Amino acid sequence: MFTALAEKLYRWRKMLLIPPTVTGLVIGISLTGILEPLELLTFDQFFRWRSHLSSESEKQDPRIVIITVDEADISTLQQWPLSDAKLAQLINIVKQETPRVIGLNIFRDFPIEPGSDALNQVLNTTPNLIGIEKVIGNTIKPPEILSQSKQVGFVDLVIDSDGKVRRDLITITSEGFGQKLSFAMTLALSYLQQDNILAHSGDSSEEEIIIGNARLFPLDKNAGNYINIDNGGYQILLNYRGGREKFQTISILDVFTQQYPEDFFDDRLVLIGVTADSVSTSFLTPYHPSYPISGTLIQANAISQILNAALDDRPLLKVWSDPFEWLWILTCTTTGMLVTYIALTKNTFQYNSVIKWLLFILNNCWLGLLLLSGSYFLFLQGWWVPTITPLIAVFGSSVIILVDKWKYLATFDTLTKVPNRLYFDKVLEQTRLLRHLYRKQTSLILCDVDHFKQYNDTYGHPAGDRCLKKVAQGIRMAIRHTDFLARYGGEEFAIILPKTDIEEAKKIAQRILEKVTSLKISHKTSSTKDYVTISCGISSLLIQDHLSTKRLIKQADKALYKAKQQGRNRVIVYEPSLVTDEK
Ligand code: GH3
Ligand code: MG
Ligand code: MG
Repeated sequence: MFTALAEKLYRWRKMLLIPPTVTGLVIGISLTGILEPLELLTFDQFFRWRSHLSSESEKQDPRIVIITVDEADISTLQQWPLSDAKLAQLINIVKQETPRVIGLNIFRDFPIEPGSDALNQVLNTTPNLIGIEKVIGNTIKPPEILSQSKQVGFVDLVIDSDGKVRRDLITITSEGFGQKLSFAMTLALSYLQQDNILAHSGDSSEEEIIIGNARLFPLDKNAGNYINIDNGGYQILLNYRGGREKFQTISILDVFTQQYPEDFFDDRLVLIGVTADSVSTSFLTPYHPSYPISGTLIQANAISQILNAALDDRPLLKVWSDPFEWLWILTCTTTGMLVTYIALTKNTFQYNSVIKWLLFILNNCWLGLLLLSGSYFLFLQGWWVPTITPLIAVFGSSVIILVDKWKYLATFDTLTKVPNRLYFDKVLEQTRLLRHLYRKQTSLILCDVDHFKQYNDTYGHPAGDRCLKKVAQGIRMAIRHTDFLARYGGEEFAIILPKTDIEEAKKIAQRILEKVTSLKISHKTSSTKDYVTISCGISSLLIQDHLSTKRLIKQADKALYKAKQQGRNRVIVYEPSLVTDEK
């Protein structure tokens, strides 16, 4: 049993080695970071595809309202920044409509008269209002009153190397100010607090944060398809909902003139922010390579993802651990390789070069499509998995299989479709290498068509070719599936019979002889029979070294020579006495 297994392992060694080798190589390449931009582009594409879905979880967020300040509003208001009095007026209008939480995404680190007393008054008396600050780089202070009552969150964003925002920074810890919470998270938590949902750490790890149904894990340096990112603070992926169309918006002018439906703000999270290009900071997102969106919209997305994950089933984007990702790449590579192997093993493939290429290209296209759809499906379930990396591994292993197959096809005889002499030599060498597993005699049968020169002379060369094809087929039918048949020379065939003693080999040779005669290929000029016949020489020995494989061939050849001498159409087993006969 062990021998059979070891033999199988040896035969399949390439198939077993290709996937892990290619996987290792591709992982090595991906760790250099070369593939990261391509993975990010694919990730972005997934966001864009998903934004067209009409499922409930991708529709407009019903919980958030954004009060926008556009270019047109600024030119109508004829002032920017808004005076404290105007801002106080705005907040008071919104407050009356009983929103659950108000997010003021407008910097107000110093008073803008007139009306700073009025603004201070309203800030002091609005406990559900959260203001902003900027804490990294050029810092911007929050309004003093909000800072004292801890109604502040930071709006700093992390930007990827290609300038896009794909991550959400939730907390920052520094020696100077301790730990600070982001504006979006502060708002989301205040909103959820009224549903009695509080954030707490998880059981599985200290870093896990649980908020309602949502489970958060911080990104590590190589999280998902990122390579060596700055993962300072507590960062998660930003599972965007989309652009402005995915949120309810109302212009600041309509709020001032109170032109909005009844209950428009009631129990909602109201975000006040600037969307005008001239005065707002905007950022690139997965949705467009060069068209940025305002910071307020990004904050809305960051809030929305937490609320949806905590209250509904819309998942946050998660990543697999590295070993799991490697296993995924290995699985894709193995599947891809097997599919290519099966496609290439089809008979049609072996002999028609156009079909061969079409099959190979088609096969790789649908494998690529399958992989892309698989990754997109997982993305919809909330997983960001490697896509380009396994795709390259699948193509790589396909090419290796193709090259291997070409090399394999070169070892076949084009006329009779059986292995050629080159292949024969390889198999004999393999038998020598596996001799410790066999530990039994190996037999060799050499067959030669009788009077074949005359056959050619009588029926012509093309008929001779057809005859050789039939003889090869006949021999193939007579041998066992473990035996190896090859075209050894012009009209000579050789059969290697592993783990077969001379008695067994004799029976098989006899069977071959009868099979070829039973084909009844007419040969009227043969002096042996009216049909085409063959002669066989057999030898059998325990293979030990190169010399013994050479001896095996030599002995079979001598036995064949004897068969010819003795009148053809017969099987002769090699015996040492044949040597003396020959002399
Ligand atoms: P014997 O019974 O002693 O084997 O006689 P023989 O005529 O078969 O042997 P010989 O070696 O004299 O001739 C072999 C012939 O086989 C000569 C060669 O033209 C022919 N032959 C070799 N390869 C092919 C082939 O691919 N196609 C055809 N049609 N003939 C071939
Ligand atoms: Mg011959
Ligand atoms: Mg010959």
